[in-house]
Amino acid sequence: MRDSMADIINGYAATAPGAALAPFRFPRRYARIDDVVIDIQYCGVCHSDLHQAHNDWGNTRYPVVPGHEIIGRVIDVGASVSRFKAGDIVGVGCLVDSCGDCSPCCEGEEQYCLNRPTPTYNGVDRHDGSPTYGGYSERIVVSEKFVLRIPDGLDPKAAAPLLCAGITSYSPLRHWNVGPSDKVAVVGLGGLGHMALKFAKAMGAEVTLITRNVGKEQEARRLGADHVLISSDAAQIRLATGQFDLTVDTIPTPHDLNPYLSTLRLNGTLVLVGLIGPIAPPVHSGLLVTGRRSIAGSAIGGVEQMQEMLDFCAAHNINCDVEMIRMQDINRAYERLLKSDVRYRFVIDMDSLKVLPVADRGEVAERGRINQAWNYKRFRAPHDRCNRAEFEMRWAGGGSHAVAHASSFCYFTYLRNSGLRFSRNALPPSFDSSVS
Ligand SMILES: [Zn+2]
Ligand SMILES: [Zn+2]
Repeated sequence: MRDSMADIINGYAATAPGAALAPFRFPRRYARIDDVVIDIQYCGVCHSDLHQAHNDWGNTRYPVVPGHEIIGRVIDVGASVSRFKAGDIVGVGCLVDSCGDCSPCCEGEEQYCLNRPTPTYNGVDRHDGSPTYGGYSERIVVSEKFVLRIPDGLDPKAAAPLLCAGITSYSPLRHWNVGPSDKVAVVGLGGLGHMALKFAKAMGAEVTLITRNVGKEQEARRLGADHVLISSDAAQIRLATGQFDLTVDTIPTPHDLNPYLSTLRLNGTLVLVGLIGPIAPPVHSGLLVTGRRSIAGSAIGGVEQMQEMLDFCAAHNINCDVEMIRMQDINRAYERLLKSDVRYRFVIDMDSLKVLPVADRGEVAERGRINQAWNYKRFRAPHDRCNRAEFEMRWAGGGSHAVAHASSFCYFTYLRNSGLRFSRNALPPSFDSSVS
């Protein structure tokens, strides 16, 4: 349905700190002259999504629809769009706009825009002041300038996390010109770390994983590491003194940087890509002074560099290691993310959010009301023998909307997984209420 300015679409949102993510309907603007309209196929699950949903940084605007590792198919373009057409597979990362005028923007480093780049979600549109909503949704509308081309050789599912985790690891390696003569260390083996290993190896460097945990050697080697260094082993750290040209530190929580600094060679750099906050315990400046070493930070990458990274991935056959989930499983995925229980990135298959096409539903067999708020329609069962039927639920206030196509048992399960709350006696009368 269209209103005057926007389409109303389905997504998943957190509506308050501590609230589970749940179905949410919201407006997506019509294409402006320079916009690309994208039907979202996959969306990666980034740690930032979880932090933002939980208001961990104190700046969340609710409701928030997270998701900034977006892959989809172009379904429409504005009149001035020249680089994309309907049918193209494209990506959108952490940003959807910037001022375009300041010196970082003019140098193609939009992520460092002095007038604050517009984030893909939890931001405010620069033109109409509306909130930005992310990729946990059916569709997104983005200015052509911030849309990336996904090269043919890349698997779109596994490419989704490249748009945040990938570029965050790639950008520092390129900025510090990593090449075949370099020794690179990567601290931490998570979403960012596993990509940093792959990139550094593909750039020709000699690569070492630094980790606290023994037992990751085989996995690290599979991902491109030549060596593994156990950071809690003082003897190993001492032996590695003065080794590395560049160390990419992906750990997101405060940790001791001193052992890592000692392993840098003359003029070496330790670049932080995971930690945002105070460094604790304190860094001993002697470690900086005696080897002219540096501590630096780096955030995602500009649009041009993101395209370069995607092309690099296609040329070197690099992808993210992913675990696919349904949109309805997002809250469980967040719990596992908090325990670092994922190898190495969850990606949501956005088909799980989309309603079944009308053509598959058949005739309406029954209509009714479950309670004050929910109406339902039952469609004639396509397979009588297996007791399969199809149901459509409508929120009377015009809100969430779900379709189930299953037996009564599966139907009940579906409702539970979709985050909609029903009491048992609120099920349609044709259901066996002993099912639970
Ligand atoms: Zn992210
Ligand atoms: Zn700018």
